[in-house]
Amino acid sequence: MRPAGEPRVRVFNPQLQRDGWESPHTIVEVVTEDMPFLVDSLAVVLGDSRLPIQLMIHPVLRIARDGAGFIVHVPQARVSARDVVAATNGYSGDAFPWLKRRVMPFDAYQTVSEPMPAERLRQLLPGDRTYIDWNFNVDWMRRAPDDPTRIVFGGLTGGRNQDLRQMAERLHVRLLRIFPELTGLRFDNIWTGKCGGTLDLYPHIGRHEGIHYAVGYCFAGVPMGTLFGQKLARRILGGKGGDSAFDRPLPSSPFYWGNPWFVPHAINWLSRHDR
Ligand SMILES: Cc1cc2nc3c(=O)[nH]c(=O)nc-3n(C[C@H](O)[C@H](O)[C@H](O)COP(=O)(O)OP(=O)(O)OC[C@H]3O[C@@H](n4cnc5c(N)ncnc54)[C@H](O)[C@@H]3O)c2cc1C
Repeated sequence: MRPAGEPRVRVFNPQLQRDGWESPHTIVEVVTEDMPFLVDSLAVVLGDSRLPIQLMIHPVLRIARDGAGFIVHVPQARVSARDVVAATNGYSGDAFPWLKRRVMPFDAYQTVSEPMPAERLRQLLPGDRTYIDWNFNVDWMRRAPDDPTRIVFGGLTGGRNQDLRQMAERLHVRLLRIFPELTGLRFDNIWTGKCGGTLDLYPHIGRHEGIHYAVGYCFAGVPMGTLFGQKLARRILGGKGGDSAFDRPLPSSPFYWGNPWFVPHAINWLSRHDR
């Protein structure tokens, strides 16, 4: 098992006797925490080293049964696998139609501020931890772990807006509600991504038609995703500790087929209780 925060990288030239297959190409395998621009960054590094990329296995397009295992279809290739894990959460798309009907994607927004005096930020957020307010529609914040002069501030979960500048302005208003003294502080960056919710508002871990899944973290993706990743690894390796109280039927609804149009309305309804 890979300890958290320690990427595993293997570079090898496959040999039939040792690896069970061969190829004229060098293989680079990377297992690491998910992060933005991971695929693009790897491509840039290889490009900078003037190493042409023959095939990058991402994304999965289709998964088919193959005896006791699976054939995973990726662009330009098919890969055999004994086990498959769908950890696609709010991004569960057409490759995982069963999950798509059960996991509702919704957007979240996050910003990082320009630098401010570290001591001033320490007075506002004294602990090196994430703070969450008591709203239904939560805001969250912390000192940036790699730069204690910047505040990382997120919220507006479930809101749908293509204009990130507008979302940054709305987040700024929410930040000032908590810290009015930060009036002049500007955000340097804003970004968005998809979270996943389920119809019973519980995270779920399980197996459907032989494919393991861990999805639907309902606002607690970082702690629950980390835990479920470990649980899935234990299940696949056959060790102890793979059981979970969250392994329960993942509900669907005849009214939900993958278009979460109602999420912004539900969030607006919840936000009314915050005023
Ligand atoms: C802006 C923002 C702020 C957040 N803040 C917090 C927070 O403070 N605390 C917290 O607990 N949670 C937070 N979350 C939620 C948390 O990030 C998610 O719940 C968590 O990332 C889920 O992790 P995951 O690995 O299961 O899924 P994801 O991180 O969603 O990863 C799913 C991956 O599957 C890949 N994928 C999808 N389909 C395919 C395919 N067909 N083939 C190959 N790959 C595929 C996607 O590219 C993606 O990389 C936040 C989310 C956002 C967007």
